[in-house]
Amino acid sequence: MTSQDRAYAVHEAGHAVVAWALERTVVRVCIDPERSHGETVAGPKDDPPSDRDRAICLAGIVANDMLRAPGPASLGRGDRICFFHDLTPDMSEEERNSLKRKACALARKNLSAHVGMLEAVATALEQDRMLDRAAFERIAEKYRRRTGDEGAVR
Ligand SMILES: [Zn+2]
Repeated sequence: MTSQDRAYAVHEAGHAVVAWALERTVVRVCIDPERSHGETVAGPKDDPPSDRDRAICLAGIVANDMLRAPGPASLGRGDRICFFHDLTPDMSEEERNSLKRKACALARKNLSAHVGMLEAVATALEQDRMLDRAAFERIAEKYRRRTGDEGAVR
C-alpha cells in the first residue's frame, strides 16, 4: 500500500460518507490510483443542485485535508463528482464562493461527526479497491452498531 493509495481511498471515502450521512444511497465506491482514477456513485442529485449535492462534491478534498492524506494535484479533478462548477450554474464568482464555503462547512461537520466511518471506508477501499452497495452497507451497519450513531448533522 502506498501513500497514493491512501490519498485516493480517503478522498473517495469522503464523498461516500458525506453522501451516506446526508441520506443518499451509496451505490458504488472505487479507487484506481494507477490510472489516477476514483469514483463514488450515489443516489441522484437534487434538481436544482442543493447544499447537500455541493457538500458531497467537496467532501473528497475536505477528507484529504482532515485526515492529512494529501494526494497529487490532479486528485479531485479526475472524478466528475468534484466538478463544483456544474453545481453552481449561472452564478457570479461571489455567489459561487459563498456556496462553496457553506458546502465545505457542511461536509466538514458531517465528516467530523463520522470520523470512525470515514476511517473504516477508507481502510476497506485501500484493501479492496471497490465497494459495492452491499459492502458499503455492511461497513455502515457495523459502524452504527458500534456507535449507535446514524444521524446527519445539518
Ligand atoms: Zn472527488
